[in-house]
Amino acid sequence: MRIILLVDMDYFFAACEELRHPEYMGKPLVVGADPKGGSGRGVVSTCNYAARKFGIHSAMPISMAYRLKKDAIFVPVDYNYYEKMSNQVMQVIKSYSTKFEQVSIDEAFADISAKVEDYAKAVEYAKSLKEKIKAETGLPCSIGISSNKLMAKMACEAGKPDGIKLVKQEDAAKFLSPLPVGKLYGVGNKTKERLESMGFKTIGGLAKANVANLVGTFGVWGAELHKSANGIGDDVIVENYEIKSIGRERTFETDTIDQDKIVAMLKSISSEVYDDVKRQGVSFKTVTIKIRYHDFTEYLKSRSLGHYSDEPGEIIDNALKLFYAFAEKGKRIRKIGVRVSSFSKRQGQRRIGEFTSA
Ligand SMILES: [Mg+2]
Repeated sequence: MRIILLVDMDYFFAACEELRHPEYMGKPLVVGADPKGGSGRGVVSTCNYAARKFGIHSAMPISMAYRLKKDAIFVPVDYNYYEKMSNQVMQVIKSYSTKFEQVSIDEAFADISAKVEDYAKAVEYAKSLKEKIKAETGLPCSIGISSNKLMAKMACEAGKPDGIKLVKQEDAAKFLSPLPVGKLYGVGNKTKERLESMGFKTIGGLAKANVANLVGTFGVWGAELHKSANGIGDDVIVENYEIKSIGRERTFETDTIDQDKIVAMLKSISSEVYDDVKRQGVSFKTVTIKIRYHDFTEYLKSRSLGHYSDEPGEIIDNALKLFYAFAEKGKRIRKIGVRVSSFSKRQGQRRIGEFTSA
């Protein structure tokens, strides 16, 4: 039996701010754009639960958050700090798992099948992981446990905040059935509206739908939706950085369609990837980009250069080409990554090696 955890940090950016400013604890705290006395543009990135009580939530215009609670504490996003905290959290999760897949700055899947015999043990194990994260970083999280990624995610959502929630495979369909269709992992606002207009209000309703009808409307994805509604999902944990590739990924503070922002991010990631390539002393033949959209759909696209390269320009040029050619226009992007692979040891280094060994 496969046992998979999804660890998701609770109100992550705001929790990080509470950590270094204990005086914020328990008070409404909003991380995001500057509200500028109500005229600020931009959005709420994250807020704590005290702020949520006033109706504030992430992605809400910051001006609206300000209207809801003028004397809330508003702080700007400090991405470097959150990334540092994220790395600490991820190290702990990694040390508890056989296979580990980071989903975003504050979420990761862990395969613990080889670590525990059954679900009861898995709950104990998750508890100790949760305590370890708290002890090492001071940050709260929630953990979902099930036998595939979809159900681990759905369980985690149900357990939030500060909870551990198990949904056994055999209980998956029953658990999902009463939930509104928009709560299904992977269903964004547009899909939700289409599903509702087709008469599917709950996940249970979708689970009983005629697959052919769904495929007629959504293409291949329709069949996936139907599987998801029945609690069937992928249980393969994809380790992020195989030794055979060098890559970096970044999650945007907020999902974005802003081309300038995305291009700037691709350039900055590409230059970090190049730094690693240089350190490793390799040349690469393949450039890959990964895009994860706001609705968690994602794609990988690769280009083979046809020759080995160690030029930084070839990473960025090809990453941009792939982005322009394949990104879906107007669809908000949550996370983006660049990777190079198909390595050979760089020629100059090989010569030095041959010389030294001669
Ligand atoms: Mg989170």
